This record gives sequence, C-alpha cells and structure tokens, in this order.
Amino acid sequence: MNDNNFAGNSKTSVDFLGNVWNYDCMGCAILRGDMKIPGGIIYEGKYTILGADPEIPIPGFLIVNVKRHINSFSELNKEERIEIGNVISYAEKALKELNFVKEVTLVQEERSKHFHIWIFPNYSWMTEKFGKGITYLRAISGYAQKNANKDDIKEVLYVVEKTREYFKKHNINE
Ligand SMILES: [Zn+2]
Repeated sequence: MNDNNFAGNSKTSVDFLGNVWNYDCMGCAILRGDMKIPGGIIYEGKYTILGADPEIPIPGFLIVNVKRHINSFSELNKEERIEIGNVISYAEKALKELNFVKEVTLVQEERSKHFHIWIFPNYSWMTEKFGKGITYLRAISGYAQKNANKDDIKEVLYVVEKTREYFKKHNINE
C-alpha cells in the first residue's frame, strides 16, 4: 500500500467496491459529494462527517472527517471539538452496543492534509496474526485489502447500515 494513500494524501484511490476516485483532497471530495464512500455517509453533523474507511474493508473501521480543510486538533474551534468528541463517543457506543467490536484504537495524523480520525476496531484475528497495538495497523490494513472476500465486504456494509440506524435513534448532542 502506498504511504500517501495510507495518510489520505494521494490524488486517487480505489475503494473496496472497486470504484476509482480522483480528487485534490479526499476529505473535501467526500464533503462535496464528489466521492461516494462505500455504504454511504453514516452521520453528517454541522462540522463533521462519519463513514467507513473507503479503501480498507474491515467491519467497523470508521473515519471521522472534519468538514473544514485543516489538519490539526490545534486548529479546531470549540464547536468542532465538541462535535468530534460526541461523534467518536457515539460511534464507539454503536459498535460496542451492537456487539460488533469490543475495543478500538483512535488515530489522528497531522501528516494528513485533511483532518480525520480513525476509529480502528480490534478483532481477535488481528491479534492472532499480527499482534496488538498501533505498530500493526498498517499491516492489518494491507492484509484486509488483499484478503477481504465478498462476505467480509457485505459485513462491512452491514455494520455501516446498523451504525447509521444507531445514529438516527440517538441525539449525539445531548
Ligand atoms: Zn480537504
């Protein structure tokens, strides 16, 4: 996997459904609707968008994008910080309460030009094959990209749908 792709800085990507997308910035393209993420947007708030990672088919691997083209927590205003916290909290609640995932890892890299946070699920197959911890996220992602079959992709889309339903049922700003 290309390192720029991994940071979300490339100009083109192929999502896990096989669609090819070209853009200047993936985060901005998703926001404008120029790039459709697999399964569709899970939640759109005033400042953020939540959806599945478009390139890596792991059930419950979600990305929180901030709408503004910035790349650091230090540039966020108060409202954005509050909404990001709420979105992450409810995304994790959804994954856990719906029994998809017991544990997640959060990642935010400032080398990505458009602020996004990974909500990366931990499954036992990952620990068994690779070990535990952030060191292995890239290898796990590469493995999922190479080895996901039709059923795995169905499961990813199912988790997206159920998580979207969860968000519809809850007011995350309360
Ligand atoms: Zn952008």
